[in-house]
Amino acid sequence: MKNAVLQRCAPVLALMLLLTGCAVNPVTGEKQLSLIGESQELALGAEQYTPTQQTQGGQFYVDPELTLYVREVGQKMARVSDRPDLPYEFVVLNSSVPNAWALPGGKIAINRGLLVKFDDEAQLASVLGHEIVHAAARHSVQRMQQGMLINAGVAGLGFALSDSQWSGLLMGGAAMGAQLALAQYGQGDELESDHYGIVYMKKAGYDPQAAVELQEIFLEMSKGREAGFVDGLFATHPPSSTRVRENSKLVGKIGSGGYRGADVYQKKTAFLRKVQPAYDAHDEAMKLASDGDMNAALTKVDEAINVLPREAMFYSLRGRIHQELNNPDKASADFEKAVSLYPEMFIYRLHSGLNALTLNNLSKARENLTRANEVVPTSIAFLRLGDIAVKENNRKEAIAYYSKAAESSGDIAEEARRKLAALTQ
Ligand SMILES: [Zn+2]
Repeated sequence: MKNAVLQRCAPVLALMLLLTGCAVNPVTGEKQLSLIGESQELALGAEQYTPTQQTQGGQFYVDPELTLYVREVGQKMARVSDRPDLPYEFVVLNSSVPNAWALPGGKIAINRGLLVKFDDEAQLASVLGHEIVHAAARHSVQRMQQGMLINAGVAGLGFALSDSQWSGLLMGGAAMGAQLALAQYGQGDELESDHYGIVYMKKAGYDPQAAVELQEIFLEMSKGREAGFVDGLFATHPPSSTRVRENSKLVGKIGSGGYRGADVYQKKTAFLRKVQPAYDAHDEAMKLASDGDMNAALTKVDEAINVLPREAMFYSLRGRIHQELNNPDKASADFEKAVSLYPEMFIYRLHSGLNALTLNNLSKARENLTRANEVVPTSIAFLRLGDIAVKENNRKEAIAYYSKAAESSGDIAEEARRKLAALTQ
């Protein structure tokens, strides 16, 4: 095995001289190909952390205590890992999709939709430990080197817009972050992450049996094609009977027993579980809107707002429903509210900007689209910024924006190219 790796690496070394070469995997101790150095690895994670959070729902800001708790558990696991010095960060994302992901350099996220599925802290620690290994063992970096990243979907962006319109929406680095976070891991990476994750649990004082139990639950759920999981955790981290078997064998060897933290976990997630009906109503409203029943969707989203009036996501959805009902003024008020509650979130700015443009409020549209692009650049924002520049007779600026939008793909790029051609004739 080691010889095979060395053989594979030798021509690479010859080709790339001092630039790159073979390195020892920091977790497993095995030699592996290393085209991306540690500084690049860290830079990648640091640059992509915020945009990737935002394309996956943004931060669950209504419950900052929950994020503090997840961070605490995550850091406890990170300290006993094979790369304790990575700049680990942990965040809870505002998404009902049960999923968790890790970017290179230890930038980790877990969705509230997964947190509601756990019974205790040990189960949470097992998932965070698993993600820590993906980051520490450079799994996504390896896949990047091998050109194995596939196009990942971006969830939750639009019921009103068709998939083809949104394809190629994310530009540059933001697209890569989503790919890194949402690409599927192979069985080998999964087994490795399970194995060392369980070792870290034991080291940190958690009952490693929690990891086996959770895998069993996930395997059962995957057989029943449990809604949400199929596109979430199971797409990125596929469960298997092999994983259950290997984990169970390892726990038999190192011994079960340890901290479970059921009471603490229930207490820390009490608020999340209390407001869950609001998110359920939101998700139902989203579904109704996708099916075209805007009036029923409006009633449902109002229900969500009544339960949790400081959740920006609800206003954003209601704004989009008002847009569909040809009520751009009401939409405007809702988008403004969403932006005021979570000003950093690109998607709320994007909707607000696009709606302001339909109302011909050019300065408001420009400001919001520009702010959206500063966090997560999208082709649609560049295209509409070009339209604004045209309306303001700023030909040079319009060309610059249209050129940028034309770098993407799909309908948006086509529209940008057409408008660019008209301007440069
Ligand atoms: Zn995994």
